Amino acid sequence: MQGATVTATFRFYEELNDFLARERRGREFSCRCARAATAKHMIEALGVPHTEVELVFVNGESVGFERALRDGDRVAVYPKFEAFDVMPLVRVRERALRETRFVADAHLGGLAHLLRMTGFDTLYDNNFRDEEIEHIAAVQGRIVLTRDRDLLKRRGVTHGCYVRALRSEPQLREVFDRLDLAGSAQPFTRCMSCNALLRPIAKAQVAPRLPPGVGERYECFAACDGCARVFWEGLHWRRMRELVDALLASSS
Ligand SMILES: [Zn+2]
Repeated sequence: MQGATVTATFRFYEELNDFLARERRGREFSCRCARAATAKHMIEALGVPHTEVELVFVNGESVGFERALRDGDRVAVYPKFEAFDVMPLVRVRERALRETRFVADAHLGGLAHLLRMTGFDTLYDNNFRDEEIEHIAAVQGRIVLTRDRDLLKRRGVTHGCYVRALRSEPQLREVFDRLDLAGSAQPFTRCMSCNALLRPIAKAQVAPRLPPGVGERYECFAACDGCARVFWEGLHWRRMRELVDALLASSS
Protein backbone atom coordinates (compact mmCIF):
# COMPACT_ATOMS: atom_id res chain seq x y z
CA MET A 1 0.00 0.00 0.00
CA GLN A 2 1.56 3.22 -1.11
CA GLY A 3 2.11 5.95 1.44
CA ALA A 4 1.57 3.62 4.37
CA THR A 5 5.10 3.97 5.64
CA VAL A 6 7.47 6.86 5.79
CA THR A 7 11.23 6.50 5.65
CA ALA A 8 13.40 9.46 6.54
CA THR A 9 17.14 9.81 6.91
CA PHE A 10 18.64 11.29 10.04
CA ARG A 11 21.96 12.81 11.00
CA PHE A 12 22.68 13.95 14.54
CA TYR A 13 25.51 16.33 15.33
CA GLU A 14 28.05 16.82 18.08
CA GLU A 15 27.23 15.49 21.52
CA LEU A 16 23.72 14.42 20.52
CA ASN A 17 25.41 11.30 19.16
CA ASP A 18 26.00 10.13 22.72
CA PHE A 19 22.31 9.32 23.00
CA LEU A 20 22.15 7.18 19.85
CA ALA A 21 22.71 3.49 19.37
CA ARG A 22 26.40 3.04 18.51
CA GLU A 23 25.89 2.16 14.84
CA ARG A 24 23.97 5.40 14.27
CA ARG A 25 26.54 7.79 15.66
CA GLY A 26 28.29 10.33 13.45
CA ARG A 27 26.65 9.22 10.22
CA GLU A 28 23.49 9.48 8.22
CA PHE A 29 21.08 6.60 8.63
CA SER A 30 17.57 5.89 7.46
CA CYS A 31 14.74 4.98 9.68
CA ARG A 32 11.11 4.07 9.22
CA CYS A 33 8.81 6.43 11.00
CA ALA A 34 5.33 5.97 12.33
CA ARG A 35 2.68 7.57 10.16
CA ALA A 36 2.19 11.23 10.98
CA ALA A 37 5.24 11.16 13.24
CA THR A 38 6.63 14.60 14.01
CA ALA A 39 10.30 15.52 14.10
CA LYS A 40 10.13 15.62 17.90
CA HIS A 41 8.50 12.21 18.12
CA MET A 42 11.18 10.57 15.97
CA ILE A 43 14.11 12.35 17.61
CA GLU A 44 12.96 11.05 20.98
CA ALA A 45 12.18 7.59 19.62
CA LEU A 46 15.83 7.44 18.51
CA GLY A 47 16.91 8.18 22.09
CA VAL A 48 17.62 11.91 22.12
CA PRO A 49 15.64 13.97 24.68
CA HIS A 50 14.06 17.00 23.00
CA THR A 51 15.50 19.30 25.66
CA GLU A 52 18.99 18.66 24.24
CA VAL A 53 18.05 19.79 20.73
CA GLU A 54 18.37 23.37 19.56
CA LEU A 55 17.85 23.22 15.81
CA VAL A 56 16.24 20.80 13.39
CA PHE A 57 16.62 20.99 9.65
CA VAL A 58 14.46 19.03 7.22
CA ASN A 59 15.76 19.03 3.66
CA GLY A 60 17.98 21.97 4.50
CA GLU A 61 15.31 24.19 6.02
CA SER A 62 15.04 24.90 9.72
CA VAL A 63 11.76 23.65 11.14
CA GLY A 64 9.92 23.40 14.46
CA PHE A 65 9.50 20.23 16.48
CA GLU A 66 5.97 19.67 15.21
CA ARG A 67 6.97 19.31 11.57
CA ALA A 68 5.39 16.08 10.27
CA LEU A 69 7.91 13.85 8.53
CA ARG A 70 7.31 12.73 4.97
CA ASP A 71 8.80 9.98 2.90
CA GLY A 72 12.34 10.80 1.81
CA ASP A 73 12.88 13.67 4.26
CA ARG A 74 16.45 14.29 5.37
CA VAL A 75 16.56 15.38 8.97
CA ALA A 76 19.60 17.06 10.56
CA VAL A 77 19.53 17.61 14.33
CA TYR A 78 21.84 19.96 16.23
CA PRO A 79 22.51 20.74 19.88
CA LYS A 80 23.05 24.30 21.05
CA PHE A 81 25.46 26.12 18.77
CA GLU A 82 28.28 27.79 20.59
CA ALA A 83 29.80 29.79 17.78
CA PHE A 84 27.12 30.64 15.24
CA ASP A 85 24.47 33.28 15.25
CA VAL A 86 21.30 31.27 14.81
CA MET A 87 18.80 34.08 15.28
CA PRO A 88 17.44 33.94 11.70
CA LEU A 89 16.63 30.25 12.08
CA VAL A 90 13.55 28.67 13.55
CA ARG A 91 14.29 27.53 17.05
CA VAL A 92 12.58 24.40 18.24
CA ARG A 93 11.72 26.04 21.55
CA GLU A 94 9.62 29.15 21.37
CA ARG A 95 11.17 31.15 24.12
CA ALA A 96 13.61 31.03 26.94
CA LEU A 97 12.13 30.90 30.41
CA ARG A 98 11.74 34.36 31.89
CA GLU A 99 13.84 33.60 34.89
CA THR A 100 16.53 30.95 35.16
CA ARG A 101 15.34 28.57 37.84
CA PHE A 102 15.98 24.88 38.27
CA VAL A 103 14.63 21.68 39.65
CA ALA A 104 17.25 18.97 40.09
CA ASP A 105 16.59 15.25 40.23
CA ALA A 106 17.37 13.12 43.25
CA HIS A 107 20.91 12.26 42.08
CA LEU A 108 22.09 15.83 41.67
CA GLY A 109 22.04 17.11 45.24
CA GLY A 110 25.64 18.31 45.08
CA LEU A 111 24.99 20.28 41.90
CA ALA A 112 21.80 21.74 43.38
CA HIS A 113 23.74 23.05 46.39
CA LEU A 114 26.41 24.61 44.18
CA LEU A 115 23.80 26.30 41.98
CA ARG A 116 22.22 27.80 45.09
CA MET A 117 25.66 28.94 46.17
CA THR A 118 25.96 30.84 42.87
CA GLY A 119 22.55 32.40 43.51
CA PHE A 120 20.25 30.30 41.31
CA ASP A 121 16.89 29.25 42.67
CA THR A 122 17.17 25.44 42.63
CA LEU A 123 14.65 23.02 44.06
CA TYR A 124 15.97 19.68 45.14
CA ASP A 125 14.67 16.93 47.33
CA ASN A 126 15.93 13.39 47.17
CA ASN A 127 12.37 12.16 47.52
CA PHE A 128 11.13 13.89 44.36
CA ARG A 129 9.58 11.38 42.00
CA ASP A 130 9.77 11.91 38.22
CA GLU A 131 6.14 13.01 37.95
CA GLU A 132 6.65 15.56 40.72
CA ILE A 133 9.69 17.00 38.96
CA GLU A 134 7.72 17.20 35.71
CA HIS A 135 4.86 18.95 37.52
CA ILE A 136 7.10 21.42 39.36
CA ALA A 137 8.95 22.25 36.13
CA ALA A 138 5.72 22.88 34.22
CA VAL A 139 3.91 24.88 36.91
CA GLN A 140 6.85 26.93 38.12
CA GLY A 141 8.73 27.33 34.83
CA ARG A 142 11.88 25.55 35.96
CA ILE A 143 14.66 23.93 33.96
CA VAL A 144 15.00 20.23 34.77
CA LEU A 145 18.52 19.03 35.59
CA THR A 146 19.04 15.31 35.37
CA ARG A 147 21.15 12.43 34.12
CA ASP A 148 17.96 10.52 33.29
CA ARG A 149 17.04 11.00 29.66
CA ASP A 150 13.57 9.49 30.13
CA LEU A 151 12.74 12.27 32.57
CA LEU A 152 13.62 14.82 29.88
CA LYS A 153 11.30 13.11 27.40
CA ARG A 154 8.24 13.70 29.58
CA ARG A 155 5.61 15.82 27.95
CA GLY A 156 5.49 18.48 30.68
CA VAL A 157 9.23 19.12 30.51
CA THR A 158 9.86 21.97 28.09
CA HIS A 159 13.27 23.09 29.31
CA GLY A 160 15.86 20.69 30.56
CA CYS A 161 19.54 19.96 30.66
CA TYR A 162 21.05 16.51 30.47
CA VAL A 163 24.04 16.64 32.79
CA ARG A 164 27.02 14.63 31.56
CA ALA A 165 29.65 15.12 34.24
CA LEU A 166 29.57 12.82 37.27
CA ARG A 167 30.96 15.07 40.02
CA SER A 168 29.23 18.18 41.24
CA GLU A 169 31.92 20.77 40.46
CA PRO A 170 32.37 19.73 36.81
CA GLN A 171 28.57 19.52 36.63
CA LEU A 172 28.31 23.13 37.76
CA ARG A 173 30.79 24.20 35.11
CA GLU A 174 28.91 22.22 32.47
CA VAL A 175 25.56 23.83 33.33
CA PHE A 176 27.17 27.30 33.48
CA ASP A 177 28.70 26.82 30.04
CA ARG A 178 25.66 25.34 28.39
CA LEU A 179 23.16 27.86 29.75
CA ASP A 180 25.56 30.79 29.78
CA LEU A 181 24.94 31.54 33.44
CA ALA A 182 28.04 33.51 34.34
CA GLY A 183 26.44 36.90 33.67
CA SER A 184 23.50 36.28 35.97
CA ALA A 185 25.28 34.54 38.86
CA GLN A 186 24.89 36.19 42.27
CA PRO A 187 27.22 34.19 44.47
CA PHE A 188 26.47 33.85 48.20
CA THR A 189 23.02 35.40 48.11
CA ARG A 190 21.13 32.15 48.64
CA CYS A 191 21.18 29.44 51.28
CA MET A 192 22.92 26.29 50.02
CA SER A 193 20.90 24.18 52.44
CA CYS A 194 17.33 25.32 51.85
CA ASN A 195 17.34 27.61 48.77
CA ALA A 196 15.97 30.69 50.62
CA LEU A 197 17.58 34.09 50.06
CA LEU A 198 20.15 35.20 52.62
CA ARG A 199 20.14 38.56 54.33
CA PRO A 200 23.05 40.38 55.96
CA ILE A 201 22.81 40.48 59.71
CA ALA A 202 24.71 42.42 62.38
CA LYS A 203 27.23 40.48 64.39
CA ALA A 204 25.63 41.56 67.64
CA GLN A 205 22.41 39.90 66.63
CA VAL A 206 23.96 36.52 65.93
CA ALA A 207 26.71 36.53 68.52
CA PRO A 208 24.89 34.27 70.98
CA ARG A 209 24.45 31.59 68.31
CA LEU A 210 28.06 31.48 67.06
CA PRO A 211 30.56 28.73 67.85
CA PRO A 212 33.47 29.77 70.11
CA GLY A 213 36.04 31.99 68.37
CA VAL A 214 33.95 32.81 65.31
CA GLY A 215 32.71 36.15 66.63
CA GLU A 216 36.30 37.26 67.24
CA ARG A 217 37.57 36.27 63.82
CA TYR A 218 34.81 37.39 61.43
CA GLU A 219 32.88 40.59 60.85
CA CYS A 220 30.35 39.81 58.13
CA PHE A 221 27.42 37.50 58.71
CA ALA A 222 24.35 36.44 56.77
CA ALA A 223 21.23 34.77 58.06
CA CYS A 224 18.80 32.41 56.40
CA ASP A 225 15.17 32.84 57.39
CA GLY A 226 14.34 29.54 55.74
CA CYS A 227 16.39 27.25 57.97
CA ALA A 228 17.66 29.71 60.61
CA ARG A 229 21.31 29.04 59.78
CA VAL A 230 23.96 31.75 60.10
CA PHE A 231 26.86 32.01 57.64
CA TRP A 232 30.21 33.74 57.77
CA GLU A 233 33.27 33.92 55.57
CA GLY A 234 35.08 30.96 57.07
CA LEU A 235 37.08 28.14 55.51
CA HIS A 236 34.17 26.64 53.64
CA TRP A 237 33.22 30.06 52.29
CA ARG A 238 36.77 30.65 51.08
CA ARG A 239 36.86 27.34 49.25
CA MET A 240 33.55 28.17 47.58
CA ARG A 241 34.83 31.67 46.73
CA GLU A 242 37.78 30.11 44.87
CA LEU A 243 35.44 27.80 43.00
CA VAL A 244 33.16 30.69 41.97
CA ASP A 245 36.08 32.94 40.95
CA ALA A 246 37.51 30.19 38.74
CA LEU A 247 34.12 29.54 37.20
CA LEU A 248 33.40 33.19 36.41
CA ALA A 249 36.93 33.84 35.15
CA SER A 250 36.77 30.96 32.67
CA SER A 251 33.26 31.83 31.52
CA SER A 252 33.92 35.48 30.73
ZN1 LIG B 1 18.50 28.05 54.71
